[in-house]
Order: sequence, then structure tokens, then C-alpha cells
Amino acid sequence: MKYGFGVDLGGTSVKIAYFNEEGTLLDKWEIPTDVRQDGVNILPDIARSLQEYVDQKQLTRESLLGIGIGVPGPVDDEGVVNCCENLGWGVFNVHDALGELTGLPVKAGNDANVAALGECWKGSGKGSKNMMMVTLGTGVGGGLVADGKIVAGAHGAAGEFGHLVLNREETEPCGCGKKGCAEQYCSATGVARLAQKRLERDAEPSVLRTLERVTARDVFDSGKAGDKVAVQVLEQYFAYLGEFLADVCCVFDPEKVILGGGVCKAGQFLLDGMMPHYLKNVFHASRGVKFAIASLGNDAGTYGAFKLALDAFG
Ligand code: ZN
Repeated sequence: MKYGFGVDLGGTSVKIAYFNEEGTLLDKWEIPTDVRQDGVNILPDIARSLQEYVDQKQLTRESLLGIGIGVPGPVDDEGVVNCCENLGWGVFNVHDALGELTGLPVKAGNDANVAALGECWKGSGKGSKNMMMVTLGTGVGGGLVADGKIVAGAHGAAGEFGHLVLNREETEPCGCGKKGCAEQYCSATGVARLAQKRLERDAEPSVLRTLERVTARDVFDSGKAGDKVAVQVLEQYFAYLGEFLADVCCVFDPEKVILGGGVCKAGQFLLDGMMPHYLKNVFHASRGVKFAIASLGNDAGTYGAFKLALDAFG
């Protein structure tokens, strides 16, 4: 039996997990991400943490097939990252850099794509070969898996669904600089923003008005409890989300779409609300696309990262 590591590199912490080749997660831990000095310490910190684990468990070099790593930015198949702004990284080859530090083969992917691969392999996408994951968190990200493999794109930027334009009338800019991106409506931040706009429109009573700062969770909780204003906000949100998902399904027509990120804590309620809008907007041949909520939570990234290494070196 061979073993390996899956590393999920985020802007505040690095999740590391140790797997056997069957994909059983045997151990996991986290270290902080040191973004000082343009992130120069990040890979050495990871290498040191892995080495400590190898020493502590007395693992042999022969038993280890390699390391997979998800990074928060565009990365191509050769391992060249192209500016991970959260980390301060410019352009360099992660395979070479982490490989040199650890003496192990390394395979890197974009974090959202890698999480999609993890869900496809061991999570809600298990059993499907063509799937898409859409993450509805602070922003909107995503990943595509075709024939069991990540679609990275020619520039490492495939699956950046969040910047499809949904509303040409928008006056406020998205983080990317454009106006009216899906991310401005479909993210958790988007739900809160829609609520804020609704509350400003008139003085209709709502429990949302009693809160200092309205979050996506507040909107979902109050909506489920029947608050009229929250219900209206959710109806607007579901309409945006359904149309957005219909658009992305036109490009890829997957077997399954896995929804992840904070908004998905709303579970089946979210799927039920979104579905009529999806069906209204989607191209007829993609009506059969199945939707599910991600099931691996914060571990999706390490599962997917290890799967990358397993496919490359196993
Ligand atoms: Zn945008």
C-alpha cells in the first residue's frame, strides 16, 4: 500500500492530510499561512511540517507516492502558478519548488478545481465522471471535472463562473472590476447585499431590521421562519442563482452540479428554491442535470489534492 499527502493551501491556513492510496483519510492537521514577505515562507513551512510528520511516523520514502496541492490562484498543468494575490505569489513553478524542498513528486491544481475533484472522488459527486462544483461563499468559484480529470483551462482559469455577467444594469463594481457579475448576487455576500437593498427600499417591518449587520444566514433563517421581507429577498436570490446555474450548465452539461460554500448550509431548502428558476432558464437538453450539496466540507480540498497526486504518481 502506498500513501501520500493532500495539501489545501488557503490565505489564512494550510490544511494537510495523509491518505492511503484507497483514499482513506488517515490523519489531518493545519498550519498557519505566512503571507509576509510575499509568501516566501509558505512552501518551506509546508515542507517542514510534512518532514516532521514523516519523522514522527517513521514513514519511508518508498511508501510515499507524492504530494498534491491546491493553490488559491490560476495554475497550469505544468505547475506554473500565475499570481496568487492572497499569498503575494508571482509566477513560478510549484512542482519544482515544493519538489525540491521535500524530495517528493508534486502535482498542483487550483484550489476550487481541486475541491471539485475531491467531491467528485469521495463526496457528493461520487460515481459521476462529468461534474461541476459551484462554491457559493464569500465569492463564487467553481471547478470542472471531465472524465474524472480536472479541466484547468489553457491559462489555469477554467471554472471562474463567478464573473459571468448576470445584470448589465448594475452600478456597483465586483471585486474583479466589472459590474453585474454573478458573484455580486449569488455569493453569501450577495445574499446580504440583496437584503440590504431590499431593506433600504421601504419601511416594511422585518426581523432583519433589528440586526446590526445582516448575513446570508440571517436571511435564510428568517426566510424559513416566514419573515415576509426575507422571503422576498430569497425569492430574488433563487431567481439569480437558478438563472446563473442554467447559464453555466449550457457550457458544460454535467451529470451533476455540486453546490458548496457557506450558503449551502441551507441545504435542500436552497435546492428547492433554486430549482424552478433553473428549469425555467436552462437549455432543454440539460433539464436532467442533478444537483446536490457538497458533503466533504473543509476536507474536499485535501481529498482532491491527494487524488491529483494519486493520478499523477500512483
Ligand atoms: Zn466579477
